[in-house]
Amino acid sequence: MTPTALSLPLRTPELVMFDLDYTLLRPSDEFEAPGYVRTGARFGLRLDPQRWSQAERAAYAAVKARRGQTGEAHDDGLLEVIARAVIEGLGGDDPEGVAATISAIAAAWSKAENFGLYDDVLPCLRTLRSAGVHMALVSNALGHSLEEVVVHFALDEFIESTLSSAELGIVKPAPEVFRAALVRAGVEPQAAVMVGDSVEDDVKGALACGCRAILLDRDRRFAGVPLARIESLADLPAALGI
Ligand SMILES: [Mg+2]
Repeated sequence: MTPTALSLPLRTPELVMFDLDYTLLRPSDEFEAPGYVRTGARFGLRLDPQRWSQAERAAYAAVKARRGQTGEAHDDGLLEVIARAVIEGLGGDDPEGVAATISAIAAAWSKAENFGLYDDVLPCLRTLRSAGVHMALVSNALGHSLEEVVVHFALDEFIESTLSSAELGIVKPAPEVFRAALVRAGVEPQAAVMVGDSVEDDVKGALACGCRAILLDRDRRFAGVPLARIESLADLPAALGI
């Protein structure tokens, strides 16, 4: 049996806490190779989309290094660090063009209209609501406000509370973040399940503070990892015994 089969379904929780970016919210192609190339071109950069994989790896490394410095403090500067690593990874080398492209990408990231909901989100939220499960957002979001996202996508009929690292000043996986979200929702840790796309921030963070957790592995990058894991939110109700 796979680890997933061993660990799912979980007992139906009172509360599901959702991560936001790459869990419910799908960034548009503004934040992938085509968007970077288009934005860079506006500022005189000729970025090479063929270098996307290495640029992404450079961004992961830059995030790790930056977090080594900032620890668990919320860090809006991370957005700039990511954009710079991607732009330079794609071959951007003119300092003025790079700086202007970073500003444009960061500004675009703060606008809800540059994101969409994954197709599996609303059906999943409707099923959970029908089953009487409460829902919350717990996010390390950079640049965009959770309240704005909830209103923009009309999620307020599902999402009862939100907690952002920007508001708290610290980021997942810090246990304080999950504890604050649980207090806000009025639910004990063992009655809550965290669902998110990050092994470290969402899953390990939630498990460490006594919640249960499910990894949303949309790109099937963690097939062998011994964690409760789904590949689509369409599978979440069954994973929660609903
Ligand atoms: Mg995420």
